[in-house]
Amino acid sequence: MDSRHDHLYIGGAWVRPSTERRLAPVDPSTELSLGSVPEAVEADVDAAVGAARAAFDSPGGWASWEPSRRGEVMERFAAELDARARDIAALVSAQNGMPVNIARQLEVGYPGAVLRYYAGLARETGFSEVRAGLLGGSVEVRRLPVGVVAAIVPWNYPQVLSMFKIAPAMAAGCTVVLKPSPETVLDSYLVAEAAQAAGVPAGVLNIVPGGRAAGAHLVAHPGVDKVAFTGSTAAGRAIGETCGRLLRPVTLELGGKSAGIVLDDAELDPAVIGQDLVAATLTNNGQTCFLSTRILAPRGRYAEVVDLVTDLARSLPVGNALDEQTLVGPLVSAAQRERVEGHVAKGLAEGARLTTGGRRPADLDRGWFLEPTVLADVDNSWTVAREEIFGPVLCVIPYEDSKDAADAVRIANDSDFGLGGTVWTADPERGAAVARRVHTSTIGVNGYLPDPVAPFGGTKASGLGSELGPEGLAAYLRFQSVYQSSPADGREPAGSGAEPRDAGAAHQHTPMTATTTTLTA
Ligand code: NAD
Repeated sequence: MDSRHDHLYIGGAWVRPSTERRLAPVDPSTELSLGSVPEAVEADVDAAVGAARAAFDSPGGWASWEPSRRGEVMERFAAELDARARDIAALVSAQNGMPVNIARQLEVGYPGAVLRYYAGLARETGFSEVRAGLLGGSVEVRRLPVGVVAAIVPWNYPQVLSMFKIAPAMAAGCTVVLKPSPETVLDSYLVAEAAQAAGVPAGVLNIVPGGRAAGAHLVAHPGVDKVAFTGSTAAGRAIGETCGRLLRPVTLELGGKSAGIVLDDAELDPAVIGQDLVAATLTNNGQTCFLSTRILAPRGRYAEVVDLVTDLARSLPVGNALDEQTLVGPLVSAAQRERVEGHVAKGLAEGARLTTGGRRPADLDRGWFLEPTVLADVDNSWTVAREEIFGPVLCVIPYEDSKDAADAVRIANDSDFGLGGTVWTADPERGAAVARRVHTSTIGVNGYLPDPVAPFGGTKASGLGSELGPEGLAAYLRFQSVYQSSPADGREPAGSGAEPRDAGAAHQHTPMTATTTTLTA
């Protein structure tokens, strides 16, 4: 596989980069180069923001289109992504080590579903409604696109996490500058090609492959109106500080350390629970933000849970991410593997009991592999239970048995993070009752997969705001209330009086004034 690109996708065209600098992703399964692309630097980011700004501000542009027309383009975009599914899955696997079977389920198909879902929401959402006032007159409530969006994503799910931002932004009428992570820039070219083939208007989507400096420049750029970020809590804090200073709306999807609560009635047969438990705890080699990596086991069944988790982890085939049989691929980089190994060593030093893994597989002499690892007898106060590891490492923590699983809920909530979690039980009602007491923004009963119809995000150190669902669309809208001192008579509201930045959006009420639909799917 050798993928080389010499241009950047800016303003709907393939343009020359401003410098000779390049990014060269490496296959973590083989340590071989996969190709290279231009690295976007500040001047390229400026050009991309300029193109997005022009596309947003131009009269008659994207923001002023009827939402159903935007939806048609988004559906064509989804179809073009489908047409590239094979190549996208292979490129993602080769760049970040995600087993190709998982890439086919989560990195293709799912992004298209998100695009189609938001295309539907664009059609169904009322972007303007008139409310009878309590004070005699009426109020026109307008939902306007927030403007130019800076979308910054990590390497672990480059396609899905890009689409969590691009799709609602496009539905709302925003324009986007996407900054992929240096490790996964190659697949972003397929997104650009799909957008171009689908007829996404020039400047609505621009892509700047770059590192932290390009990201920081984009976040603080005066032409940007909103930042949508997924990545580490450390970077999220830095971005949040910048946005706070600029009073710029920001969505932050950050790290996690979620709990998987095994209730005392759970079915511990691997044939029943195995696949879902592995998916909820180890997907993508443990490099997934929401995984239930702290497994909480009732003392009465503690040994059974440790045995189950150990047997499952040991049974997973480790190997090249492009091999169809592989269920655990490599870590994304040598540095990441060393970091994860450091966590395992620290856990053992803190007193954990290693029941499987902890080593580099003997039969794989190239690639940044680590055996799936289980640390038992962990105390929730230890570093290994408090910090995000981001590798195939599970901690099993005992809790005191009781009908309401109070001790498990206490331990689950004793975390700086608040992203995901799971409850495992033979009684889904009981599971839901326990799940509702866990202080995270998402949680699953007997499995976990973020559904596009519902908000996904984190609380505490896991982030601010939500993606997905109608709530994810609302994050790309701002409101304007136009007070009428006499009751509305159904006529078109006169002149927008909008500032230049609203020029496109100002046209938006025309097709939507009659509807009073609210923000529901
Ligand atoms: P990272 O924070 O190092 O980088 C993420 C992206 O931000 C990259 O594109 C990077 O170039 C850019 N970036 C880094 N510092 C920046 C800055 N100061 N300003 C602007 N841009 C900056 O994260 P990573 O190592 O690529 O990804 C792993 C992390 O992402 C994990 O902590 C994981 O939990 C988190 N994550 C969260 C979610 C979620 O939805 N909550 C989903 C996936 C991953």
